[in-house]
Amino acid sequence: MPELPEVEVTRLGIASHLIGTKVVGVSVHSAKLRSLVPAELSTLLAGQKIQSVERRGKYLIVRCPAGSLLLHLGMTGHLRLVPAGRSAGPHDHLDIHLSSGIVLRLNDVRRFGSIHWTSSEPLQHKLLAGMGPEPLSDAFTGEYLYQRSRGRKVALQRFIMDGHVVAGVGNIYAAESLFRCGLLPITLAAALSHTQCVQLAGAIKEVLALSIATGERAMDFCRDEDKLAYFAQTLCVYDREGEPCRRCGAAVKRGRLGNRSTFYCPACQH
Ligand code: ZN
Repeated sequence: MPELPEVEVTRLGIASHLIGTKVVGVSVHSAKLRSLVPAELSTLLAGQKIQSVERRGKYLIVRCPAGSLLLHLGMTGHLRLVPAGRSAGPHDHLDIHLSSGIVLRLNDVRRFGSIHWTSSEPLQHKLLAGMGPEPLSDAFTGEYLYQRSRGRKVALQRFIMDGHVVAGVGNIYAAESLFRCGLLPITLAAALSHTQCVQLAGAIKEVLALSIATGERAMDFCRDEDKLAYFAQTLCVYDREGEPCRRCGAAVKRGRLGNRSTFYCPACQH
């Protein structure tokens, strides 16, 4: 699943090609995504000048004067910039034709992505309004995490993956952040000290920023062969069950929290 860093790298990769250009048309090859692509999208977007490309959690927001497009990449979605006239493949569902001659193309094999239109302030849209602060913003601090975690008898991994607490921290980055600060995923949020909250907020920022930097170096959104994939960063625990911990050599363990896997080093994390 594209996580926050993949979505942010997508934003960074496409924004400069989109901002200031006009939408000249929209081709919907297949409207059946997780939710139906709005039927009137073509009419709504045609002639609109793109003002900004933003991100909130794992949503991309394309702002135009008449409204905003909200885009979620689901499990397998990715966006590419292709020259006008290039034919669409079987999993290319949507093309946004721009006045520059470039087409913004959405490819999504598993179709869990979604597209929404709002003529109101997009950050107040029901999909975004209840989100916690952006993890990389100044609003997300150890003090904030400390206040939010008081009395919360919930496993830490779940706590930091709760979008109401902090936006867009997925399984991989939750596991990697907890490893960085030596905390077990099942530790109760309420049990954290202020210092541990400061360390955890810092670790979340670090792993996300590192992944974005890695992805930015690797990705080129005008190049066909770049499929959106997990960036080849060095993961310490995620998906490494039985492999040696990079810090101490102990075998990484896999646990379960509800329907999710957790990965941790039994020696480094307490
Ligand atoms: Zn270890």
